[in-house]
Amino acid sequence: MRCYSCSKLSFKIICKICISQLFTSNMSTRTVGTLDVISFFKYSSLETLLHSKHKPEGYRIYKALAQMTMKPFIEEFVESDDRDIYIVGIDEYVKSGYAHVALLSRAMKTKTSFPLHSSLMAKNRVKYSGKSLQFRLENPRDFVYKGKAGVDVILVDDIITTGITLQEAQKVLISHGVNVLFALTLADVEE
Ligand SMILES: [Zn+2]
Repeated sequence: MRCYSCSKLSFKIICKICISQLFTSNMSTRTVGTLDVISFFKYSSLETLLHSKHKPEGYRIYKALAQMTMKPFIEEFVESDDRDIYIVGIDEYVKSGYAHVALLSRAMKTKTSFPLHSSLMAKNRVKYSGKSLQFRLENPRDFVYKGKAGVDVILVDDIITTGITLQEAQKVLISHGVNVLFALTLADVEE
């Protein structure tokens, strides 16, 4: 097959060279309101791969990215944290046969961290892509949380743009007595 990122022949969906180059990009943290959001990449360095989201190959690409990012991150995190941690993906809605965010949160299962799949779903699925901050504020996601109350949670999403969605999610979880530790995303649109 060919590498989805550079189109060169490769045994895997993302070739070794692309993986090593992606790894050189640094993690960054952005604070939106009271929520710290940790991202593994800048959106521009991952754009081609993230565009696969609603294509059939997106399933394998998101899984590969989760193995490179979310999995090692949580393994290191739980080593230095004794609590049980719950993982909540933003709106794990099935589209084109799978929920891409669920592929990220699934990779975060360890002996002391547990994904609560499809526990935070949006009632409003209006498209945010290319829309202004004002539009996003006027059209909230209307999340419904059906996960555990009173637990420690890491929020997970694929992309952070304005951070509005993550802040809204944080608010809903707090209203259920959840302690939101921080959010993790693959890519940050802000350069
Ligand atoms: Zn490649």
